[in-house]
Amino acid sequence: MSIKIIKFGGTSTGSGEALNRAADIVQAQTHERDQIVVVVSAMQGVTDMLIACADHARTGDQGQLQITIDELHHKLSSIVVSVFAGGAALLDLIEIRMAELTQICQRIQDQGIASPQDLAQITALGERINVHVFSAALRDRGLRSEPVDAVDLIVTDDRFQSAKPIKALTDTRIKSRLSPLLGKALVPVFTGFIGGTTSGQTTTLGRGGSDYSAAILAESLAADEIQIWTDVDGVMTADPVTVPRARLIEEISYSEVFQLANSGAEVLHPKTILPAKEGDIPIIVKNTFKPEGSGTRISHCSNSVRQTIASVTGRFDIRMITFELKTGENVQKIKSHLLATLKEQGTDIWAIFQSEQQRTFSFAISAKNKERALQTIRDPKTTQSFGRAVSQPKVTKNLSLITLVGQDIYLSHQVQSSVSDTLHTAGVDIKQIGNGASPDAIVFAVESRAAGKAIQLIHDRIVLNGSSTTVQPEPVLRHQPAL
Ligand code: ASP
Ligand code: MG
Repeated sequence: MSIKIIKFGGTSTGSGEALNRAADIVQAQTHERDQIVVVVSAMQGVTDMLIACADHARTGDQGQLQITIDELHHKLSSIVVSVFAGGAALLDLIEIRMAELTQICQRIQDQGIASPQDLAQITALGERINVHVFSAALRDRGLRSEPVDAVDLIVTDDRFQSAKPIKALTDTRIKSRLSPLLGKALVPVFTGFIGGTTSGQTTTLGRGGSDYSAAILAESLAADEIQIWTDVDGVMTADPVTVPRARLIEEISYSEVFQLANSGAEVLHPKTILPAKEGDIPIIVKNTFKPEGSGTRISHCSNSVRQTIASVTGRFDIRMITFELKTGENVQKIKSHLLATLKEQGTDIWAIFQSEQQRTFSFAISAKNKERALQTIRDPKTTQSFGRAVSQPKVTKNLSLITLVGQDIYLSHQVQSSVSDTLHTAGVDIKQIGNGASPDAIVFAVESRAAGKAIQLIHDRIVLNGSSTTVQPEPVLRHQPAL
């Protein structure tokens, strides 16, 4: 007996054709001895449209609000009509959910503000509709199936837009609700992205959070495998849109994928990795539109035999905030304090750089977070603990981060010098070299206008020839796991 969690993203259910393919993929895997739980996100584009509705309601743009609701209604109904001969019950359900959307938007419009609760309620509608549609598609194929709403199963705190699951409660509720269904050879179709507070209010796990839902379920049910079905072949050596020679990676470790997901690669939600790793459950990423492909298997595997660089990825439109320290100050202490404060206030730190003399250090953040981060840094509550020990922050703009990921790559002399040589020859200046969250990443900051070219060069000359870049025993830079 094995338990599989099979998750489909927005593109895999975003048209009648895709939805049929996805349902066929599930059907092909139903064997007597396997138990399957399907997880679905909203159909492609639906969450964005729901957020747009909330925005139009908040700004009082009744005209645009109505247009968007009508478009959404039409989009969902057309998919249903294209898949089901008799989809009347689903069309009614969509109608009811659209009425709910209209009602919440009315409230937002009256109050001129969208509360976090309202936003969670609105954005959850996409998944809440899709589980019914997907479950009906499975029943059409002769399978027994039932939609399941995660609101009372994934129990979370009350950060409504990026809620954190409470593990013990979630485990118990998932097991007691889903195990009986699985025992009856029924395929539950579970809402991704959604959770609920202990008092039953809907929360969401953050954008792209359906992957995370699949991993939470998998850990609670001690599943044997998580399948993430998407619109790319798997985890690639680079983003194939910008790097034409990008190739599929067939095997990769949890830690490498975590680094990639945190460095701008959009393959998986980074939070997916931890529950899978904790439960020692492999994640298979596959393409719904090319199911015959091998996909990527993510596991504890170590690629020390391979000794290659797994992948290169970029983050663009970065601001670097640099501090200089007065001599004699404890750089680690001040840095940790600043990092923790920024993180608490919601700013993601994409990389940390530190000069060899330890006198200056920099954080890289998204350009959109700059103002908020500076406010936090200058807040007397933040500065009181280090007073005049650090200089005023200096902001550098137009930077991009290029991250190379591979096992223990940060410790490799050869990777650093190959990248430096390659970029130097191409006339690309490396502004900083630093580390990610583990020794499996090395980050280079370059000027944004050179970033595309730099990624392509690094990929074609170094990643694809990665077998020559063996890991040296002695670190050239000290790794500081500070993220
Ligand atoms: N539907 C949600 C979003 O668009 C969650 C997901 O797609 O995983 O962010
Ligand atoms: Mg996704």
